[in-house]
Amino acid sequence: MTTQFDKKKLIDNYKNIKNLLNTANQTHKRGNAARLIAVSKTKPAAMVAALFSEGQVDFGENYLQEAITKIDELSALDITWHYIGSIQRNKTRDIAKYFDWVHTLEREVIATRLNEQREGMPPLQVLIQVNIDNEASKSGCCIEQLPALIEAVSACQNLTLRGLMVLPSKEGGDAFMRTKALFDEMATRYALPHWDSISMGMSGDMDEAVAHGSTMVRIGTAIFGER
Ligand SMILES: *Cc1c(COP(=O)(O)O)cnc(C)c1O
Repeated sequence: MTTQFDKKKLIDNYKNIKNLLNTANQTHKRGNAARLIAVSKTKPAAMVAALFSEGQVDFGENYLQEAITKIDELSALDITWHYIGSIQRNKTRDIAKYFDWVHTLEREVIATRLNEQREGMPPLQVLIQVNIDNEASKSGCCIEQLPALIEAVSACQNLTLRGLMVLPSKEGGDAFMRTKALFDEMATRYALPHWDSISMGMSGDMDEAVAHGSTMVRIGTAIFGER
C-alpha cells in the first residue's frame, strides 16, 4: 500500500462528489438526505485522515485485516466505520469489535454471532444485503428469506436493524425501484423502530439511486482513484 498521494487531487475529487450528491439530494428532496460513504479499501490511512479534515465522517472498508490496521491508526479521529465486505463466520468477532455499521448481513448465523460478540458495546447498526436481482452468483439474502432474517435480527439486542443494502447487477434496470418497494413493504409489515436506511448507488448511478430513496451512496474510485 503506497502512502504517497496527490492531496489536492483527492480533495478536488471529494468536493466534486459532494457537490454531485448535494445536487441529487436537492433535486429529489426525500425526507432523509443520502449521505456519502467514502470507500477507502486498499487506500492508506493518510488519505482517510485528509478527507476527515475536510469533514468526511463515514468510511467503508471491505478487507478486515487492512481495515483493522487503519482503524487502529486513526483511533483518535471520530470516524464512523462501515463494513461493506462479505462476512465469514470467523470474522464476526473483529467486525463486532471495530465497526459502527455493517451493510452486508445476509445470514441469521452471522447475526447471532455479531449480537453475542457486540455485548457491552453500543448497538451495531445493521443493514441486510438483499440479492435483489436473484442472481446465483451474487451475495445477499434472497427476497423470500428476508422476512425471517428481519425477525431474527430484530430479536438481537446488540444489533439495531436500519434497513437494506443492494449491489444491483446492472445499471439502468429497475433494481433501485424494487429495493425501495421492498423496503417500504417491510416497513409496513413490521413495526421496526429504526428502519430508515437504504444503502444503494455507486459513482455511476448516484443520482438515480438517490431519486429512488437511497440514504447512503458508496463511492470509492471516484474519490480515491483507481485501486
Ligand atoms: C468497492 C465497493 C464500492 C465502491 O466501488 P467504486 O467502484 O470504487 O466506487 C461500493 N460498494 C461496495 C460493496 C464495494 O465493495
